[in-house]
Amino acid sequence: MTPTGTDLGPAVGERPLVVVAGRPNVGKSTLVNRIVGRRAAVVEERPGVTRDRKELDAEWCGYAFTVVDTGGWLSSDDPLDVQVSAQAERAIAEAAVILFVVDVTVGLTDEDLAVARVLKRSGRPVRVVVNKVDSSQRESDAWDAVSLGLGDPWPISALHGRGTGDLLDDVVLLLPTGPGPDDAQEEAEPDGPEAADGQGSGAPVPRVALVGRPNVGKSTLFNRLVGDERSVTHDAPGTTRDAVDTVVVTPEGTVCFIDTAGMRRKSRTERGTEYFSVLRALDALDRADIALLVIDATAGITHQDQRLAERIGAAGCPVVVVLNKWELIATEDRTDILVDVGDRLAFLGEAPVLKVSALSGLGVHQILPAVAAAEQAYHSRIPTGELNRALKSIQVAHPPVGARIQYAVQGASDPPTFTLFTNGRLQPTYLRYVERGLRERFELGPTPIKLRVRAKGANGGGGRRR
Ligand code: GDP
Ligand code: GDP
Repeated sequence: MTPTGTDLGPAVGERPLVVVAGRPNVGKSTLVNRIVGRRAAVVEERPGVTRDRKELDAEWCGYAFTVVDTGGWLSSDDPLDVQVSAQAERAIAEAAVILFVVDVTVGLTDEDLAVARVLKRSGRPVRVVVNKVDSSQRESDAWDAVSLGLGDPWPISALHGRGTGDLLDDVVLLLPTGPGPDDAQEEAEPDGPEAADGQGSGAPVPRVALVGRPNVGKSTLFNRLVGDERSVTHDAPGTTRDAVDTVVVTPEGTVCFIDTAGMRRKSRTERGTEYFSVLRALDALDRADIALLVIDATAGITHQDQRLAERIGAAGCPVVVVLNKWELIATEDRTDILVDVGDRLAFLGEAPVLKVSALSGLGVHQILPAVAAAEQAYHSRIPTGELNRALKSIQVAHPPVGARIQYAVQGASDPPTFTLFTNGRLQPTYLRYVERGLRERFELGPTPIKLRVRAKGANGGGGRRR
């Protein structure tokens, strides 16, 4: 491939570029994943793109744009004189907006200052994004970034999605194209396997990634799920080499399991190589609508399980947690394990946790209905009237202090995203209470949901950040 500068290709000019810049480890790729969300499933890196340049199509509120991840472009050998590759320079020059990411947990470094100089010289609009502001306690630290001289910082947590909605609201307003019909949105709908049951429903089949560490029992579980009275209708070729997707018709509907080659007959390379299997899992996640995270209950929640869960969380797709080998857990140990799941996988929110034994089949029957419920919840649309009635009763049951929610709409589905219009700032704990209330009332348990708050009178026309 062309080594530098010449292959930005046809992407440039088609859609405005949102360029994500910053030194390594500040969370650029996490932010890109967050912005692209599940769309990553259907976006391909453009041909001719070198490995370290990632261009992904995204859209927000009807604005379509291309996100460019500059990971690896800004060499860190000499922090005082950041080397910018010719490619990066072109992307920066053509950027509609540059998101300059820094890390609140580390504070500003010399390298950050050097990147800031490069970006300032570019003359392009820059938003300083202070990442890893995982809680409001960190928010005041974010203001140090004012000293970069690139305007007010935007505190966010790319990992948890905190503040990213407000940032995107601001970013799209800087794009040259106005809002409008998003041509790409249509085409971005997956041409995935259509219902293979011959009934011609035409509805896309949910794509499920079965992920987990080696030896947790994925293959055993997969074989059990496709076995029994269910019929495997066809193998759909996946996008990666060797990937085989399996479409299964079940009484609960049709499901496509992604990248099942290794589960049907294991190759030697696949066995036991944690690294390879994690890469594979990440690839499958990118193409999935729903993740089934399989955990070996006898091993407890390991660091690697947490990392996978983090990635699933960042991908924004619903997840069903499967605690496998449950029959081996002594009755008196069971509560501890469930508490452990709650603690260590807390960021998966209200994901259902199923206790199964793939070997004996115990509990396996719960999985496909849970997948169907998650799929349904993910696409939920709550009528405005019902939503507002629910919010009223939620507020009556436990009135907020200082401000109240006056009105709300569901701005988007996949995942359900609610905008709350308030007359002041709501406490984060209160928002969590509202979120729980909405989940319960509308059975949104298995899907991530997003709440965005618009406080009347907040400056700059944007909403208050959460
Ligand atoms: P990049 O090198 O800039 O692309 O950074 P990555 O996206 O690979 O992130 C580097 C590390 O920071 C990873 O371990 C991420 O999980 C972590 N990270 C990213 N965003 C956040 C965040 O908002 N909060 C926290 N606590 N960690 C984050
Ligand atoms: P994978 O690497 O995640 O695909 O795991 P496998 O399906 O190959 O299973 C790894 C090992 O765990 C095999 O020896 C299985 O027989 C065993 N195993 C899988 N599920 C269960 C279960 O529910 N209970 C018990 N006791 N063993 C299981």
